[in-house]
Amino acid sequence: MRSYSLIAPAKINLYLEIIGDRPDGYHELSMVLQSIDLGDRVEIRANGIDEFRIHCQHPEVPCDRTNLAYRAAELLKTAYPKAFEQYGGADIFIDKQIPVAAGLAGGSSNAAAVLVGLEMLWDLGLTQPELQDLASQLGSDIPFCITGGTALATGRGNQLEPLPDLEGLYVILAKYRSLGVSTAWAYQTYRQQFGSTYVRESTDLAARQKRVHSGPIVKAIAHRDEMKMVQCLHNDLEKVVLPEYPQVLKLRQTFQQCDVLGTLMSGSGPTVFALTDSREKAEQIRAQVQNTLGNPDLDFWIAKFINTGIQLAPGIH
Ligand code: ATP
Repeated sequence: MRSYSLIAPAKINLYLEIIGDRPDGYHELSMVLQSIDLGDRVEIRANGIDEFRIHCQHPEVPCDRTNLAYRAAELLKTAYPKAFEQYGGADIFIDKQIPVAAGLAGGSSNAAAVLVGLEMLWDLGLTQPELQDLASQLGSDIPFCITGGTALATGRGNQLEPLPDLEGLYVILAKYRSLGVSTAWAYQTYRQQFGSTYVRESTDLAARQKRVHSGPIVKAIAHRDEMKMVQCLHNDLEKVVLPEYPQVLKLRQTFQQCDVLGTLMSGSGPTVFALTDSREKAEQIRAQVQNTLGNPDLDFWIAKFINTGIQLAPGIH
């Protein structure tokens, strides 16, 4: 049976701004997304039967129809029923390394890997725009997860503009093991508290554009000015997550006191990250935060920025 093994990287948000409401019920966003070399390994193996089966060792990842990877496979089956008839289903093995419900797009990246892997397994010959369109139907972060690197994401997060690679940066990620934040809760709470400041659909385009503040970070990245870029790190969702979770606020403050280039909560949290320019410094910062907080429930990861999305894993396929 044929199979493909892929690496599905996590992402961090260097910038997340909530602009307003959209008629489709989503939020209008302006985000800068960055892939990092912390990733899940996703193997897609033809199984010769007419179903998809998910296998994952992580206790918090569902192996049923609610898994985003399963939904990606079902979407491709619905879009290309003849290919499904010809090739049949697949077993999808997820080796989970990305922390779950952490604001790092783990589920979205797994779904992106399934779209890429099944497309190859079924010899569909889809173009990038066709694949991106399917990804967009499944979830806002999934188009980015396919192509990865550094990108400006607008609309509901699915309209991508590639940005120059940020090279040589390292990220220290920290997350309390027993803490997960629901993305839906974070956005709903933001809407309740700050919805009155939203730019409305009816606002004319020029006025809408004036309310978007991602210009400086995009310019800094375009000029490869990392010092300027780190001064522009911003995440609107910190305004609702940090007051609700004092330990995340404390973590963020502890990173701030270290010799870091910058620090921020990623996505809807609760992962907090800090940036630095070498692995040695990253190790020192991790040790300093660990010693200061002394909490055995706190997990750390060190990763570097990468300029790729879903990739074939090294080895035999
Ligand atoms: P995002 O940053 O895209 O909002 P996240 O990183 O915060 O997402 P995920 O790790 O994708 O969160 O998981 C969110 C929830 O989705 C989990 O609680 C889990 O139950 C469910 N889930 C479904 N499929 C997956 C998957 N393949 N991997 C991880 N979680 C999944």
